[in-house]
Amino acid sequence: MDISVVVPLYNEEESLPELFDWIARVMHANKFSYEVIFVNDGSTDKSWDVIVALAAKHPEAKGIRFRKNQGKSNGLNVGFKAATGDVVITMDADLQDSPEEIPELYSMIVNDGFDMVSGWKKKRYDPLSKTIPTKLFNAATRSISKIKLHDFNCGLKAYRLEVVQSIEIYGEMHRYIPFLAKNVGFNKIGEKVVQHQERKYGVTKFGLDRFVNGFLDLATLAVMSKFGKRPMHFFGMIGAILFFISLIALAVLGGLKLWGLKTGNNPGLLTENPLFFLLLTTLILAAQMFVTGFIAELTLRSSSRKSNYTLTETINLEQPEV
Ligand code: UDP
Ligand code: MG
Repeated sequence: MDISVVVPLYNEEESLPELFDWIARVMHANKFSYEVIFVNDGSTDKSWDVIVALAAKHPEAKGIRFRKNQGKSNGLNVGFKAATGDVVITMDADLQDSPEEIPELYSMIVNDGFDMVSGWKKKRYDPLSKTIPTKLFNAATRSISKIKLHDFNCGLKAYRLEVVQSIEIYGEMHRYIPFLAKNVGFNKIGEKVVQHQERKYGVTKFGLDRFVNGFLDLATLAVMSKFGKRPMHFFGMIGAILFFISLIALAVLGGLKLWGLKTGNNPGLLTENPLFFLLLTTLILAAQMFVTGFIAELTLRSSSRKSNYTLTETINLEQPEV
């Protein structure tokens, strides 16, 4: 199969038939073999009935349903697990993304050799309250991930099948799929300016909390991508720095006290110095950092049944199970 289109959706009953017809039209015009995988994320409207009706008429229409709302990331994740096309395209269900972009995206993956291509809504039709924080968000993600994309969170993206099979999207990490892809070694990440429309039906499913959550996720990802496989280097480093600073400072305090005793002017008790308690606390914190690092290493070891590297190919060898 040429293309799998994965569409995560939550309460989008009005848009679905129109979206499917549009995708089907583009696919026929370009003679692609395809499937459209609708992932119904616990919709409380008639979305699932609409999908069932579409699937009854068209074998290309397929559906997966969550019992309750699990978030867009989980929707994409199961959609990716089910996809079989050489190229996997994700698209929002609300008709803001245009299926007309599919042939060009497909060609960038197949002919130009990109691992993934992200859409860029250069001209956006969204309220200002969303576009301004988005600019900030993209700048932060660019500088941390070192990936030169303008629009990380664009719903319209294309991937080589291998890419979506190699990444695990959880929490709200759908905003950072290019970053996740890069972390497992897919470096050829492209960008294509795409058409964007105003939402035709229904309402947006994300409020302003998306930005708070988005930045927290970015912080997680930044640390994970650097230290995820060796947490002791992260915690141990902080612990070591704290430990040495407080040790040296304590030694100086002790030295000053002895000096005071020797020279005869009464230095007072060490415990009368607030610095003493501060340094005591940092020593304890340092020890805790080490312990945390050890525990993180142990956790990592016991969960290493699922190794977190991906093999590209082997020569004269069966692909070993990883
Ligand atoms: N979506 C989803 N689960 C959720 C929230 C959203 O599957 O919990 C889907 C939604 O139906 C749409 C896509 O994710 O197809 C993008 O959501 P939306 O259009 O509301 O986001 P915006 O365009 O405002 O960023
Ligand atoms: Mg939308």
